[in-house]
Amino acid sequence: MRRVKLGLKGPVVSEICFGSLAISPLQGRVSLEEGRNVLEYAFASGIDWVDTAEIYDNYEQLRPVLDKYPEVKVVSKSYAVTATELRQSLEKARKGLNRDVIDIFMLHEQESHLTLKGHAQAWQALLEAKANGLVNYIGISTHAVQGVKAGALQPGLDIIHPLVNYQGLGIIDGTLEEMLASIAFAAELGIGIYAMKVFGGGHLANNPEKALQFVRSVPGIQAMALGMSSRQEVDFNLALVSNQEIPEKLRQSVLYRDKKLYFADWCQGCGKCLAACPQKALYLKNGKAEVRAERCVLCGYCGRECIHFCLKIV
Ligand code: SF4
Ligand code: SF4
Repeated sequence: MRRVKLGLKGPVVSEICFGSLAISPLQGRVSLEEGRNVLEYAFASGIDWVDTAEIYDNYEQLRPVLDKYPEVKVVSKSYAVTATELRQSLEKARKGLNRDVIDIFMLHEQESHLTLKGHAQAWQALLEAKANGLVNYIGISTHAVQGVKAGALQPGLDIIHPLVNYQGLGIIDGTLEEMLASIAFAAELGIGIYAMKVFGGGHLANNPEKALQFVRSVPGIQAMALGMSSRQEVDFNLALVSNQEIPEKLRQSVLYRDKKLYFADWCQGCGKCLAACPQKALYLKNGKAEVRAERCVLCGYCGRECIHFCLKIV
């Protein structure tokens, strides 16, 4: 697989990063052990970095595989606001992943310069962690045009992980064109960029070639995180980036099928899940939670908030 350099200062990595949300308990698609097997298969096939986050709750799942592949790079993300929270979050990642140094550590879901301002203490702590050698590169992930813009101007930032796909699905504050302009701005400043939600959380699954080629064609994007929860999906994605003919059997077997957010009928209408959705896709109607499907990127974050286990990606 093609290897790329993330921006001017970032590491050299495979063009595909393993998006581990897809194997995490948050999405519940596979067991911990099945997920480990898929991850190991991806590493053995040439993918040499993995994307996780504190909220995915899967450090323990990843650790045994990372122990076998010490050269593989790891990205994690934190919602920390204060310096203390950031340090705790980083410690959790270092211990949980059994790594002295986290290759890339990010502030999760930064929406604008105001969000970043609110996280100023955490960012300062991240800069210190980098200076102290606990982290190699620092950055942000974002679903927002303004997040990319603000991140590009953030002192010391190396890498941005923005949401981008050919329909602009999931961008929370603007159009696809605006997102591409923000990405171009960040890229001009030498920032490394790897995309998320290339397949629009499954909504663009009917034409994965188009989805992938679009992101590859955007100047300034060097790589992408793809969620995979089966060996077939790994094979499929590797064939896609190598421009190989994909056998029909493999195409049929991958999980690029229509997925949706399922609500159990015992939903109490408490509304707690609404605040957990970065896409503002959830609302209450007649005392039950409902989703605006066109906004939902099937991340599964809302499921964590429901103590009644009503929400699931199926
Ligand atoms: S948190 Fe659960 S019970 Fe509450 S509204 Fe959401 S789905 Fe329903
Ligand atoms: S409704 Fe749930 S699964 Fe959909 S985008 Fe919001 S948090 Fe993610």
